[in-house]
Amino acid sequence: MRIAIIGAGFGGMAAAYDLKNAGHEVTIYESADYVGGLAAGFKEPYWNWSVEKFYHHWFQSDHEMLGLIKELGWEEKVLFPRPLTVMYHKGKFYPFDSILGALLFPGLGFGLDKIRFGFVGLFLRLTNNWKALEKVTADAWMRQWAGRNVYEKMWKPLLVGKFGPFYRDVNMAWMWVRIKARTTRLGTFEGGFQNFASLFGDKLREMGIEIRLGARVESIKREGAQLSVRSDGKSESFDKVLVTTSPSLMAKLTPDLPQNYLKGLLELKSMGAVVMVLSLRHQLSNEGYYWFNLPKEAGFPMLALVEHTNFVPKEHFGGDHNVYAGDYLEVGHEYFSMSDEELLKRFIPAFQKFNPAFKPDWVKKIWVNKTNYAQPVPLVNHSKNIPAIETPIEELYFASMSQVYPWDRGTNFAVEIGRRAARMMLGQSS
Ligand SMILES: Cc1cc2nc3c(=O)[nH]c(=O)nc-3n(C[C@H](O)[C@H](O)[C@H](O)COP(=O)(O)OP(=O)(O)OC[C@H]3O[C@@H](n4cnc5c(N)ncnc54)[C@H](O)[C@@H]3O)c2cc1C
Repeated sequence: MRIAIIGAGFGGMAAAYDLKNAGHEVTIYESADYVGGLAAGFKEPYWNWSVEKFYHHWFQSDHEMLGLIKELGWEEKVLFPRPLTVMYHKGKFYPFDSILGALLFPGLGFGLDKIRFGFVGLFLRLTNNWKALEKVTADAWMRQWAGRNVYEKMWKPLLVGKFGPFYRDVNMAWMWVRIKARTTRLGTFEGGFQNFASLFGDKLREMGIEIRLGARVESIKREGAQLSVRSDGKSESFDKVLVTTSPSLMAKLTPDLPQNYLKGLLELKSMGAVVMVLSLRHQLSNEGYYWFNLPKEAGFPMLALVEHTNFVPKEHFGGDHNVYAGDYLEVGHEYFSMSDEELLKRFIPAFQKFNPAFKPDWVKKIWVNKTNYAQPVPLVNHSKNIPAIETPIEELYFASMSQVYPWDRGTNFAVEIGRRAARMMLGQSS
């Protein structure tokens, strides 16, 4: 069979790998001039490692991704340091990535609230009944079971930060996933995620897969027994096609989809993201903190501050201290239209809260990355609204971040859904 895959992110590449191994002819169309999709990175000429455009790490529970890496024989290139995550409380930051850290965190006092926090965490870690949890919002469930104080101090800032105006509508299964599928050790790949993506791309090419970079697909149409893929003004025919873009792009590419499937795609909600990467002359967090969780209510102009070089040594970046400042935002938020300099001006005053000695001249260089599709928003009973991987157009398949539910998006689940889609295309059980 001749198969086309739209998108060389980890979902598209994982599907291509399995389809080629099953003996088929595979072509990947990728609109960017690099592979890796949302997890791609970049580097300065004097850096040995790349930095991701949007901060990325793996959890030890990312079995699909770690399994694929093992299959490829690169497991010794995976590193799992234990960077420090901190939580803000009344002008200070406190470690919050261990049981001890949680016990000592002053934000919840040392009485009943802490016990409720612990019991709710334990329950969510142990239960597998996400179907019951998706029937209720995280806001209502947490208020009832964790209590108003714990919810407002701990969980509400997380929901507001990730989902902005939709925070009250997100279902409790999303919160369950956050607690269920995460570990305190965080992983990366030697050289950065881009190194892994590029090695994987090279491997696919060696296997005989054609990866067309800078090839934006304009439309996909059924023509007789085949699907016609149009890119750069030229059409080519394939027996099967897998699309791995956002749902709204999928709707644009294939207007011939029946109304109810198109409506389902267009009704899915998601948040965009704006992330600035800054190269600094000095370390920002003297304590060596990696991830700062920042509540919007405390007036921070970003949701997360992540000092990458407190996770990966600065020596890989020619001594530069690399920091991310990022936020999940509704498309149309002013950050999407601000220039890089305007955004820097907005962020800079917050930096002294991480280190009072910080001076604007510490900033050597900045890069700003923006995406409209960063985080799907799962509403109540979301499982009923997931578009099927096998679309109503025969032999046309769709696998995106919005369909990995109940899991939250991530490269691990991109690999999982890519491989699941490949099995379906091969006529094997899903
Ligand atoms: C801010 C942020 C932080 C994240 N943090 C993490 C993390 O810590 N750990 C983690 O594992 N994951 C993280 N993720 C999620 C992770 O990046 C995604 O889940 C994963 O990369 C999705 O892979 P994918 O293949 O499904 O889609 P994508 O990576 O989006 O790939 C789709 C590809 O399709 C291409 N494309 C789009 N339109 C066309 C077209 N018309 N023609 C041809 N090609 C097209 C795109 O260029 C893209 O390369 C994060 C994401 C964001 C935004």
